[in-house]
Amino acid sequence: MKMDPCELAPSHIRSIAPYQPGKPISELAREMGLKQGGIVKLASNENPRGIGPRTRSAIDAALAEVARYPDGNGHDLKLALSKRYGLDMGSIVLGNGSNDVLELVSLAFLGQGRSAVYAQHCFAVYPLATQARGARGIQVPAKNWGHDLAAMAAAVEAETSVLWIANPNNPTGTIVRPEELEAFLRKVPERVIVVVDEAYNEYLPPDLKAETVKWLKRHPNLIVSRTFSKAYGLAGLRVGYALAHPSVAEVLNRVRQPFNVNSLALAAAAAALDDMEFVACSYAENLSGLRQIEEGARALGIEWIPSHGNFITLRVGKANEVYRRLLRRGVIVRPVAGYQLPEHLRVTVGTPQENERFLVALAASLKY
Ligand SMILES: *Cc1c(COP(=O)(O)O)cnc(C)c1O
Repeated sequence: MKMDPCELAPSHIRSIAPYQPGKPISELAREMGLKQGGIVKLASNENPRGIGPRTRSAIDAALAEVARYPDGNGHDLKLALSKRYGLDMGSIVLGNGSNDVLELVSLAFLGQGRSAVYAQHCFAVYPLATQARGARGIQVPAKNWGHDLAAMAAAVEAETSVLWIANPNNPTGTIVRPEELEAFLRKVPERVIVVVDEAYNEYLPPDLKAETVKWLKRHPNLIVSRTFSKAYGLAGLRVGYALAHPSVAEVLNRVRQPFNVNSLALAAAAAALDDMEFVACSYAENLSGLRQIEEGARALGIEWIPSHGNFITLRVGKANEVYRRLLRRGVIVRPVAGYQLPEHLRVTVGTPQENERFLVALAASLKY
């Protein structure tokens, strides 16, 4: 074959820039000849607490059945979620991470000839999932690093079928206040699916938590997406979910792989959902960790974008250089140049010791 077989893929697929994940600990250890135990990874917004004992036991118990296919309907987890939120099980769609849920939305509602609206500095998966379907992305300039809802509403076109919002947003940590979000939903035409991605919802104080679940009744075009990857500490197992109008949920389920959530993930998520104390501790520790990093940044004369997530994005100047120097000191953070933030680095809130390691390494990495 003389042609590059890559040319066989449609042009909208060929032009996709691959998602850049945080560098795994094992990779840095290999590259730099470091011991894995000495490396601090604050690059993927994982929970530094790990998992609770009850979740661990649930995984252990589920191990006995791994030779069997999982429950493709995810009955037990859906039942637990339906009790938690007072919704019918028919309003819940489970995903292999909430990333999967976002893909399902793009499969069900996007395609060639359609468009999706998202914000500058938004979560990378929105433009990726949009482009992968051959749909056109409409990027709306950010306001104070966050979503400019008025401009996003104005950007909706006749062909627009999806509007993506992360609240709080990753990588900026910005938030849209509940009353603004509600007013926005009243304004957006009902023919546009509005995805409100609440991956960091559990890290919000009560007054900033929007009642998105209640709004589902009034707004059948609303899809709320949440995950067990962050505050619940299950990033490695991949489980998230969408809450939506039953008809919307039904369409999403049609494009889902029959066994998209594995049995260990189903069992772990159900147990983790019950462990309210674990989430409460994660919330409290995250707040104090954020303050710790902010104080350290202030002492170094570094600006940051005020964050409502379990991470914070700092303006360090020559971000790529600082990133590499941090790596040499065994600290992995996340460059965000791909998010149009070339002077910033995003750092996940770790344990107090990890945050301190980061701040010490940062101080050394800023010296030229
Ligand atoms: C981390 C994150 C997700 C969740 O990813 P999972 O696939 O559930 O692990 C979704 N949206 C945003 C904005 C995130 O930062």
